[in-house]
Amino acid sequence: MQLCGCQKIKQVRVEADISADSLWCDRCLSNLNVEDFTLTDELKNELQAWIYDYGKWIDWENDGIMSNGVLLEQQHNERGALLTAKVKLELDRQYQVVFSPSTFAMKYSK
Ligand SMILES: [Zn+2]
Repeated sequence: MQLCGCQKIKQVRVEADISADSLWCDRCLSNLNVEDFTLTDELKNELQAWIYDYGKWIDWENDGIMSNGVLLEQQHNERGALLTAKVKLELDRQYQVVFSPSTFAMKYSK
């Protein structure tokens, strides 16, 4: 089954973005459909909740970050790292799984 432009996906990236699925092809950066992977419903729900949580630290109106944005992003990334470990376990031997943490607030605060 072809899920993106690549002939075969070797490496799957876990990354949160606004209204996207949490899995990406690490090579061509296509957003992948979580439903195409053999993940448990429980983990899919956790990933979905994690996506909804993305961007809490972004102050859209003022195009900046919330006052505790760096901390919020950090917590989000810690959760993402845990979820990535679970995805790794469930996709064992099918794909390599890597985590790409959010750096938005970190960049902004500098
Ligand atoms: Zn690809």
